[in-house]
Amino acid sequence: MKMLNEMFPSYNIQANVNLGDYTNTRVGGPADWCFWPKTQQELQQVVHFANETDLPITVLGNASNLVITDDGRQGVVIFLTDMHQIEVFKKNSITAEAGAWIIEVAQVAYDYSLTGLEWAAGIPGSIGGAVFMNAGAYGGQIDQVLQSVDVITPVGEIKTYSAAELAFGYRHSLVQETGDVIIRATFTMQPGKRSEIGEKMADFNTRRAQKQPLEFPSCGSVFKRPTGYFAGKLIMDSGLQGYQIGGAQVSTKHAGFIVNRGQATGSDYVQLIKHVQDVVYEKFSVNLETEVRVLGRK
Ligand SMILES: Cc1cc2nc3c(=O)[nH]c(=O)nc-3n(C[C@H](O)[C@H](O)[C@H](O)COP(=O)(O)OP(=O)(O)OC[C@H]3O[C@@H](n4cnc5c(N)ncnc54)[C@H](O)[C@@H]3O)c2cc1C
Repeated sequence: MKMLNEMFPSYNIQANVNLGDYTNTRVGGPADWCFWPKTQQELQQVVHFANETDLPITVLGNASNLVITDDGRQGVVIFLTDMHQIEVFKKNSITAEAGAWIIEVAQVAYDYSLTGLEWAAGIPGSIGGAVFMNAGAYGGQIDQVLQSVDVITPVGEIKTYSAAELAFGYRHSLVQETGDVIIRATFTMQPGKRSEIGEKMADFNTRRAQKQPLEFPSCGSVFKRPTGYFAGKLIMDSGLQGYQIGGAQVSTKHAGFIVNRGQATGSDYVQLIKHVQDVVYEKFSVNLETEVRVLGRK
């Protein structure tokens, strides 16, 4: 059987790529293949081929909400970062390809005086990742402004979901169960006052810089907010701030973050996540569920 790069010789496909060069944590082992599609057609063809040949696929945006283990990932890892077009229609509707940075989409909304995405101004992820995770902050969430999402199904067909069909919940969307690849999202927004939108964005960014350890690589908040608690406070009250395994450390600035202090491995992250969960459970009988996805070879 032909190899992936022989099947699609003109596509940007590379073998045996170190994923740590692409993740926000800077950890992660090798992927068998990495593919950076430039068009929907390229993406569709490779998804179809992968389905026909049982080649596992993993779709990533900016890899800012996951930990990849040291054994890496089997099959093909598809980075959508080269598909990042943003268009504005009818003055209140924005369509963004999945690889567009949510920060840039928030900036376009600001440029057109559209309100509803101010909270996203400092989130270092893609539109695809934000829809998949139902990203949110400061009382805002992607499902509040989302109108529809186009996907490629696992068998390579194009399908459109309305926002209502995507069963959004706290850091949850239906795409987490379907295995679809998000290719673009359309947002319907309300007109607002440009100066107020800009002020809100600046305020959220200031608050982020004050509270979050943006000076170190990380994957954002590691744990979901448990009902009735704050993960960061539970971790702090467990005396774990600054606790370190290898190069992975519970941030001294925000206990909900685990930062890479320089030489962290995927194994350091996995062990530290488990340690935090165990200690918090021991002290408070609260199960901390991970928000970040831990992806490995199996
Ligand atoms: C410093 C920092 C601050 C953060 N602050 C916030 C915050 O305030 N609020 C918040 O919600 N998150 C926050 N995050 C987490 C993260 O940035 C968001 O969840 C972001 O939306 C993830 O996008 P991504 O492109 O990086 O996704 P990735 O990490 O690349 O992927 C996340 C998941 O989505 C899937 N996925 C990605 N793209 C697609 C696609 N096109 N189709 C199908 N599946 C896809 C992946 O397979 C993976 O399972 C923060 C992270 C950091 C590092």
